[in-house]
Parts: sequence; structure tokens; C-alpha cells
Amino acid sequence: MNEFLSGIRRVFAYARVSTKHQSGLSIDGQFRMCERFAEFYNMTIVGKFSDKETGKVNTREQFDVMLERVYAGEVDGILCEKYDRFSRAGASGEVLIQKIEKETGIRVIAVAELMDTTTPVGRAMRGMRMLFAALEREETVDRTIRRMKDMARYAYWMGGQPPLGYKVIDVQDKEGKLRKKLAIDEETAPLVRKIFELYADGKSQAQIVDWLNAQGYKTSRGGAFTKQSLHDILHNEKYRGIYTYFKGTKHNHHAKRDDVVRVPGGVPAIIDEELWDQVQKRFRAHAGYKHRYLLAGLLKCGRCGGYMHGHGGKEPDYRCIKHKPRLTIRKSKIEDFVLAYIKYEILEAVTDIDFELMAHEINAQATQRDHTRKQMIDKLTLELSRLQTDEERLIQAIKAGIGLEGLKEEAQKIKQRKEEIKLKLSQLRGPGGNDYIKVQELKENWELMKKRFYEGTSEQKEMVVRQLIDEVILHPSGYIQVIQK
Ligand SMILES: [Zn+2]
Repeated sequence: MNEFLSGIRRVFAYARVSTKHQSGLSIDGQFRMCERFAEFYNMTIVGKFSDKETGKVNTREQFDVMLERVYAGEVDGILCEKYDRFSRAGASGEVLIQKIEKETGIRVIAVAELMDTTTPVGRAMRGMRMLFAALEREETVDRTIRRMKDMARYAYWMGGQPPLGYKVIDVQDKEGKLRKKLAIDEETAPLVRKIFELYADGKSQAQIVDWLNAQGYKTSRGGAFTKQSLHDILHNEKYRGIYTYFKGTKHNHHAKRDDVVRVPGGVPAIIDEELWDQVQKRFRAHAGYKHRYLLAGLLKCGRCGGYMHGHGGKEPDYRCIKHKPRLTIRKSKIEDFVLAYIKYEILEAVTDIDFELMAHEINAQATQRDHTRKQMIDKLTLELSRLQTDEERLIQAIKAGIGLEGLKEEAQKIKQRKEEIKLKLSQLRGPGGNDYIKVQELKENWELMKKRFYEGTSEQKEMVVRQLIDEVILHPSGYIQVIQK
């Protein structure tokens, strides 16, 4: 690509809009794109030309003026957004470009089609597109959580064994439907209070477990107490009156806080806030400070290809110990490097982001998907009408007494295929059409992403990192390779 562009210094920029195709970039938008490109490749735009096409009349006055000056040898190249901006429709356009290039020795460059990912600009663009796709998914998740929250707002018990200290009672909802709710079980609730008090008083978990079992107390499931069941009780927020509902699978140990729906006041409290806080404070003191490893699951060893794991201590690091010598790197060193990479190579790589252009590109892809969908619908509709005709003929034949067994089988096959097609058509026609993204939405998403990275919690920052970075490889030489998604 650089070879293709070498020697091109002075250029014209050409833009064109047509009232027939409103979906594209405005003339200003096309020019901005050319300008950015020219700046990046050290070209000088020495003239701008644009045409507006209306109706069927191809008035391209500026285009002709520009061509005269091109033939006069004023420039080395012409920049346009896409080749179809420059050329007349179809194959004749291609011929025109070749003719001009051959006769004048200049280059016609469609900057949108030249965007490649070997350049920082191209990479940044790709990074942003990625990011918006990620945000879209995230919004879907948000909507799902909101729906779950609505469900859980009334804190109905979703079934299963109630926790120790509670029983399940029947209540009627607004529509008179029977629902289940948690209520305090006065027989076992005092035991829960006792457990919290013992722990707050400084008893160890092992001591409490031993005491409970020695007294013959049973868990809510009727078993003996273990360290795990005690731990679950001391961490269960329902005892402080917060109804919690985990929307993920129970076996997912990597559940995040976001996965839990919390409804304060959703259950009657057994423990007051003061006692709850005392217990949690003791837990925190016990657990000590835990390091958060930003690159867990992202950082790979450049020597063996395995993941490098975080290791705590006074000077926490990431290490691979599968071979000698080991490969290690200070935690702060590599994390700072990756954060700086994201900042300078992605978030700040393009200071003047052309959101109009970006929305245009994203929507062009959506249009393509819509187009494919319409083609499928047309194809299936045609097949359906053919099958309809075939079926009618068969029925006539069977009625006329030519009814061989084979014909009936054939009729059955046609019927089946028709059902298949109808199902597919209903899926294709159903909801799930493309939402076109607006320039304003893009801007807001971009700002949100930056805000999360620069001002967000460590969780939000980590989320941005994981949305943008596929993996990080530490080579034995110390070279850090960052691979974007
Ligand atoms: Zn290794």
C-alpha cells in the first residue's frame, strides 16, 4: 500500500452526492475523510471539487473542471471517498478511472476502500467498530437484567429450599394469583442470630461449626454444618433483608456482582445492619488485601504459549513456571504498559473522530445484511409458489385416478418442504431487523467508553480492556506484544 501511494504529494479531493442515494456521506463528510487521509500520508489537497446529482440528469460540471486541471498536470492524484463517488456507474466507471490513470500518470485513490489495518488509523477505526459492537451486546444484557429486576421487584420466592431461619408462605399477587414468599421462621431464626453473634464475638468458623454440630443443630437441608455451609450463612444478604436473585447459572464461579439482582427490603431481615457490618468487617480483615489481576486470562507466555498467572506478595507479578528459566514480569509494569497502549493506540489514536463516517460504515454493513435477508425472502417466496403449482398438479393427477403410490409420497414431500419454507419465512420476516445507529448514539457510546476507562471503577476499566484486547504476549526478550480484537 505504501508503495502504491509513494510519490503522491499533491492531490485533488472530489466528492459527490446524489439525491437518489441519500444514505451516504454528505459532501463535507467525504471531504473530511479525504483530509484525514491526506494528512496521514503527507499529501496536500490543492483543490476540492464536488457535484450534486439530482434526478436523472448527470450534471457533473465540477468533475469536468477538475479533469481539465488533472490533464494540465497540476496533481499526482485524486482522492475520493469510494470509487463509485468518482466514477459513473458500473463497469464504465472502472474504464474511466483506468483511462485517466493511464493518460495522465496520476492515481485515483478511494480512501474508504484503502483503509487497512496495518496503519494506526485503520487499527483505531477497527477498534472502535469492535467497541460499538460490544456496547450493543452489553445493552442487550442491561435490558435483560432490567426485566429480571422487574420480576424480582416483588421478591417472590423462586422455589427451592429456603435458607435457614425462613419458611415459604403463600401470598396473592395483584391479579389474585398464588405466589410464594419468604417469611421468618421463628423456630430457626434465633439460631441464625446466634451464629452471627458468635462470629462477631471472635469465635473461629471451625469453633462455630463444632459447637453447632455438638448441639445437634441441622442445616436447612437437614445435614450437619460444614465450614462451607457456615460461610454461606454468614454471607447471605437475605438475613439483612435484601432479596437476592442470581440470574446466572449456579455453577458459574466467575459470576460478577452485576449478575445478582438485589432488592433491599425484599425479605424480612433476621440480622440488623450493625451485626451484619461487624461480621463483614471481620471477614475483610481475615481475607487481607487481594490483588486484582487485570491481565488474567489475557497474558500469555511467549516461550511456551501458556497463560501467565498472577502471583501475590510484596511485589506481585505474572509468571510462567512451566520451564526454566521462568518467565516473570512485574504486575505494575505490564499492566501500565497495556493501559498506555489502549490509551495511545486506540482511545487517543484519532483525535478528531469522524462519527458521521463511522456511522455510515456501520450502517452500510447493516444494509448489506438487510439486503441478503430480502434476497432470501424473495428466493423462498418463489420456491413456495412453484411448490404450490406442483402440489395442485399432483392433486389433479391423484383425483384423476393416476394415483400411484409414488405420487402420494411426492405430495407429502412437497407439503413438508412448504412447511419448512413457511417457518423460515416467518423467521426472516419477524423481528430482528437491523437497527441503524445514529451519529449521536455513536458519540455517546464513545464518550461512555472513554469515561469508563479514565474515570470508571477498576471493574469498568477491566471491562474496556477485555473488550478491546484479545491477548497480550510477553516474549522472553521482554518485548510485549498486544493483540487487538
Ligand atoms: Zn511459559
